[in-house]
Amino acid sequence: MNDASPFADLARYARQVRFAPLGEEGQRRLSQGRALLCGCGALGSTIANLLVRAGVGMLRIVDRDFVELGNLQRQVLFDEADAAAALPKAIAAADKLRRINSTVTVEPVVADIGPTNVKRLCDGVDLVLDGTDNFETRFLINDAAVKFGLPWIYGGCVGAEGQSMTILPGETACLRCLMPECPQPGSTATCESAGILGPIVGAIASIEAAEAIKILSGNWQSVSRRLSIVDLWENSFRQIDVSGLRDQTDCPACKHGEYSWLSGRSVSRTAALCGRNSVQLSHLDASISLDELAEKLEGVGELTRNEFLLRLKVEGYEITVFPDARVVISGTDDITTARAVYAKYVGT
Ligand SMILES: [Zn+2]
Repeated sequence: MNDASPFADLARYARQVRFAPLGEEGQRRLSQGRALLCGCGALGSTIANLLVRAGVGMLRIVDRDFVELGNLQRQVLFDEADAAAALPKAIAAADKLRRINSTVTVEPVVADIGPTNVKRLCDGVDLVLDGTDNFETRFLINDAAVKFGLPWIYGGCVGAEGQSMTILPGETACLRCLMPECPQPGSTATCESAGILGPIVGAIASIEAAEAIKILSGNWQSVSRRLSIVDLWENSFRQIDVSGLRDQTDCPACKHGEYSWLSGRSVSRTAALCGRNSVQLSHLDASISLDELAEKLEGVGELTRNEFLLRLKVEGYEITVFPDARVVISGTDDITTARAVYAKYVGT
């Protein structure tokens, strides 16, 4: 924590403290709360903005990406200068956040979250927030959060639709109770294939931030026990009661303590292809429908396909997808970059 405790300056939080369920006691607890934010793109930068302004004690921000001009439509912490400098998102976010509230400790980490570093990233935090763009990382976070007994808040959005659910390990259903298997690669829409509107990011990030404020301020009884699904284009706000789901499922993670994502057994196998400026990613026990993927990627870059493979040329990369869920990303020999390109265009 910084020398100047956030609690020393309650005046800046006057409107928030006046909100009776929070009050001074809630603000004091919030100012000691420590959170890990996984991903600082659209959802992540909006969540970080809200939580740092609200006066959390510490926010650790992990992101593997760099700011680009095409991010600015929805990633509220970044500006044109950040994009021109191609700053890592975690660094650009931390600079901006420290200017917003210098009493909050902001810890930027430029890294790809994986089985080898997730335990260290979770060290000393009270809560984990989802700002990622793929289910593979969410399943890993779920394993880690359930194993370490950390509450975590799932959130995701694409197009004009988004969803969020809060997981209190040992008490509520976890992500694997809700989705026993990680969606197959290429089976879900990504922001690249279906686009994304800024307002849905704001809606889902606000739900996540509100849940975080409840947990960090000690108001656990007010935490949502429902899966929230919002569609701002269809004008629908749905809430599905998931309070009984944990009792109804035979969840490998929260019932049997099997953490296959954390142990690395379920994580995609990645290998740089030497001398080819290419990286190969492959998923065990998975398959990809090239038809579905071709439909999804219609109009995105230069797309060619035959019965054996699908190839997309975009942003200087060539992405070749095989039906056995093997994907070769050409144009980089950096595994982190390849995983980011994969998540952006193929998705999980
Ligand atoms: Zn579970």
